[in-house]
Amino acid sequence: MPGEFRIIEEFFSRDTKADGLVLGIGDDGAVLRPREGFDQVVATDTIVAGRHFPASLAAEDIGWRALAVNLSDIAAMGATPRFAFLNLTLANADTKWLRDFSRGFFELAEMSKTVLAGGDTTQGPLSITVTVIGEVPADEAITRSRAQPGDLVCVSGTPGDAAAGLELLMQGAGLDHPLVQRFRRPMPRLQLGANLRGRATAAIDISDGLLADLQHVLKASGVGARIELDRLPVSAALDEYSKDAKDFVLAGGDDYELCFCLPPAQLQVLQADDNGCEITVIGEIVAEPELAIVDADGKRYEPKRHGWEHFRMDAES
Ligand code: ADP
Ligand code: MG
Repeated sequence: MPGEFRIIEEFFSRDTKADGLVLGIGDDGAVLRPREGFDQVVATDTIVAGRHFPASLAAEDIGWRALAVNLSDIAAMGATPRFAFLNLTLANADTKWLRDFSRGFFELAEMSKTVLAGGDTTQGPLSITVTVIGEVPADEAITRSRAQPGDLVCVSGTPGDAAAGLELLMQGAGLDHPLVQRFRRPMPRLQLGANLRGRATAAIDISDGLLADLQHVLKASGVGARIELDRLPVSAALDEYSKDAKDFVLAGGDDYELCFCLPPAQLQVLQADDNGCEITVIGEIVAEPELAIVDADGKRYEPKRHGWEHFRMDAES
């Protein structure tokens, strides 16, 4: 079994030359030089085996997800990722596991032009913390707090798929099932996030479920929302999987899609851009600070599922 330094050298030290990286892996600290005129956005997230992902998940997928959940936060801020730091706690240094993990991690790192600039490697129960540093033109970061009555509430992609995929995975479904794929390989909406700068009044990434995360925006902005059940996007695979597909869309976690608020005049402009995903308007922001879901007749709808409580492997998260 390789020791700590062999692990770093063999699996994580890559050619880390990048603009703004004065010194990468190999010293006591990385040296980064911020670009003039840009703010830095820093996001960090820990994923723990048995809590955020099944311990049996393929190492490659764990590597991808550990980075993806952070890139999704960077996307929700309207930022572009630059550097990542990887804190890896492993029960034992299994070479095959490490090779697969680093393959998944670097696959997404390369796709998103994120450079691994450091980290830490320790022994213990499997847990991975990634920190991503992104950049955004000064004062242009998108927050949760500026949604206005009259704004359109939009979502990217088809939320709900990942929660259904996790259920399927636990039931032993094949890894290439389209819903399972959505759990294994969430695609951070970086292109969309960048396009939202200067247009969206608020944005958040959906990690705990659409309703739960939209609530954070409403609270931070001091507004409410009216969501129309009929407008929720449902993927063909999810529609086939569950007769309660809309409840998955409203409450399923782990999708890492973006939910954002847009002044109506901005919609066409945004849709004219290449966002890398579909965008659906699902309702609007209202002044009354309450989140209402209404059906086709305007009647209130009570979701059958409530976010992570139903989908997490453990009630706390
Ligand atoms: P120290 O003993 O000073 O904490 P380490 O031995 O932990 O140093 O790390 C040595 C170098 O390797 C540092 O540059 C650190 O950022 C990097 N490093 C350690 N673990 C990882 C990892 N899992 N991924 C990327 N870089 C790592
Ligand atoms: Mg260290």
